Amino acid sequence: MQHVTRRSFLTGAAAAAGLVLTAGGAAQAVPGIPARVNTVPLTHEEHGVVVVGTGFGGGVTALRLAQAGIRVHMLERGIRWPTGPNANTFPRVDNPDKRFLWHRSNPEVFGRRLAFEPYTGLVEAVVGENMTALCAAGVGGGSLVYQGMSLQPSESVFAANFPGELDWGLLDRVHYPRVAQMLRLAVAPDELVASPNYATSRIFAERARNAGLPVDKIPMPIDWNFALAELRGEMAPAYTDGSGAMGVNNGGKHSVDVTYIAEAEATGLVTVATQHEVTDIERRKDGRWTVHVNHIDTSGTVVENKILTTDALVLSAGTMNTTRLLMKAAAKGLVPDLPEGIGQGWGSNADRIYLWTNLEEEFGLVQGGPVVYGSKNWNDPHAAFTVIQASIPGFHGIDMRSTVMVGFGVSEGRGHFVYDAGRDDAVLRWPHEGDSSVQTGCIDPTVRRIAGERSILTDTNAIVPSTWHPLGGASMGTVCDLEGRVLGQRGLYVLDGALMPGNTAACNPSMTIAAIVERALDDIVARDVGTVFRAA
Ligand SMILES: Cc1cc2nc3c(=O)[nH]c(=O)nc-3n(C[C@H](O)[C@H](O)[C@H](O)COP(=O)(O)OP(=O)(O)OC[C@H]3O[C@@H](n4cnc5c(N)ncnc54)[C@H](O)[C@@H]3O)c2cc1C
Repeated sequence: MQHVTRRSFLTGAAAAAGLVLTAGGAAQAVPGIPARVNTVPLTHEEHGVVVVGTGFGGGVTALRLAQAGIRVHMLERGIRWPTGPNANTFPRVDNPDKRFLWHRSNPEVFGRRLAFEPYTGLVEAVVGENMTALCAAGVGGGSLVYQGMSLQPSESVFAANFPGELDWGLLDRVHYPRVAQMLRLAVAPDELVASPNYATSRIFAERARNAGLPVDKIPMPIDWNFALAELRGEMAPAYTDGSGAMGVNNGGKHSVDVTYIAEAEATGLVTVATQHEVTDIERRKDGRWTVHVNHIDTSGTVVENKILTTDALVLSAGTMNTTRLLMKAAAKGLVPDLPEGIGQGWGSNADRIYLWTNLEEEFGLVQGGPVVYGSKNWNDPHAAFTVIQASIPGFHGIDMRSTVMVGFGVSEGRGHFVYDAGRDDAVLRWPHEGDSSVQTGCIDPTVRRIAGERSILTDTNAIVPSTWHPLGGASMGTVCDLEGRVLGQRGLYVLDGALMPGNTAACNPSMTIAAIVERALDDIVARDVGTVFRAA
C-alpha cells in the first residue's frame, strides 16, 4: 500500500551538493538527484509493486497483475493525452510545437533543430554514436505517437530470431490474438481506401503488385468509423489528412492508455503517477528495491524528490530508458551482480524511412493515413523484411509530390551501451554498417522497385541514422529469462522492448513486445504471485 512515511526538505548546502538530510540530520548522497540550489520536498513511499513506464510492456503488466489481485503503482515521466472528436491535444507534424519534444531531449530531430520551450512533450531523441533512437513519453508510451502498424511475424522468421523455448504455437494461439483483441485491430475499409484522400495508398499497392511483390492491408488499432466520419465532415480531419502522425486528436485509436491502462485502472488496484521520472534504481541490503524519482512540472523542473521502496520492480521504461537505468545501476554499484550482458545486443530493427518523390504521380496534397498497405517479404527467414507506405500531411499548402515509404527487417549488427560517468548516463554505440546487409540487399532494392525509375528516393537515415524501433539491451537469454526476470535479481523484471533480441522478426515491435509480455505475465502470475508479489 502507498503511504508517505517521512517528509524532509533539502536545505542550502546539502541541496546544492545533491544531498538530502536523513532523519538524524546527517547529509547523504542521493543517486540521480543532481545538485541544485532550490529546495524541494523529499517524500518516502512504500509499495508492493512498482512498474516504471506505461507503454506496451507496462500496460500489459499492470493489467494482468491487477487481474491477479495485485496492487500496482505505475511511474510515468510524461503526461496524459486525452482525445475526442475535434480535440487539439496533439501537435501537428507539419507545424510542431513544444508538445512534440520531451524537455531534456536532444533537440536535433531528423537533422532539424527544434527550439521549443521545455515541455513534457511526446518524443525523446536519444543520440548515440551512429544512431539516434526516438522514444515516446506519456501515458500510453509509444502507442500515443506510433502509426499503429500491428504485425505478427511468421513462424519461420520468428523461429530464426527468437529463442525456440518460447513456444510459437502458444504465442500464435493465445498471446498474439489476445493483444489483437485488446487493441481491436482492424484493416482500413475499402470504402475509405477508395476515397480521393487515399490515392497514395492505392498508388503504393498498385506499384508494389506490378513489381511482383506481396501486398496486404496492415492491421491497425483503429476504429476506422472515425476516418469515415471525417470524410462526411462530422469532425475535423485527423486520419484523413495525414496530420495524426504524432497522435490522433479525434480519438478512435486504441492506444495503450485507453485500453490496457484504462482497464487496469478500472480494477481499482492500479495507480498511475504521471510526471514521475525514475533517475536511479538500487537494491537494498534486505533484497527489496529502492526507486529514486524526480517529480517534475510540465517544464521539467523538479518539484519533489521521491524515494520509493518496493518488493518487486518492473522496468517497462522502453528499450533505451530501461537499459540506461540498468547500466547506471551496474556502473555505480547500486545493484551488485547484474548480468554482464546488460547494454549488449541492441538492434535498430533496420528501421529506415524514405521520402518518395515523383513529379508525375498524383500522390495528392492531402494524404489519408496513417497506414493502409504494406509488402511483407518474409519467405526467406534469414533475409526477411517489410516495406510500408505512410502518409505525410501537406506542408503549409505546398504539394511536395512526395510520400513516405518505411522499411524494416533484421539487421546483423548489434550495438552496445557505454556508461559515461561525466554525464551519469549510458550512451549507445552502434556500428556504422550495422544495418548494411539488410539495407543494401533487401530494403533498398525493393523500395526502388516500388518507386520506379522516374522517382527520387531520399533515404533519411543516410542523412541522420535513426530508428523508431530500438530493441534489446536486457535481452531474454542473456540478461533475463524468457519471462523478463533479471537473472540473479529476485523481484527485478524487464518487460518491454529491452527484453527483445535486438529485433522483432521483420515486423514493427509493438505486437511482439505486447505478446511476449502477455506470455510472461501468464507465467509470472502462476509462479511469482504469493512469493515475489503479494496480493492486495
Ligand atoms: C513515431 C513512432 C512511430 C512508431 N510506429 C510504430 C508502429 O506503427 N508499429 C509498431 O509496432 N511500433 C511503432 N513504433 C515503436 C513502438 O512505439 C515501440 O516499439 C513501443 O512503444 C515500445 O514499447 P515499450 O513497452 O518497450 O515502451 P514504450 O511504449 O516506449 O513505453 C515506455 C514508457 O516509459 C516511460 N519512461 C521512460 N523512461 C522513464 C523513466 N525514467 N521514468 C518514468 N517513466 C519513464 C516513457 O515515457 C514511456 O511512456 C513507433 C515509435 C515511434 C516513436
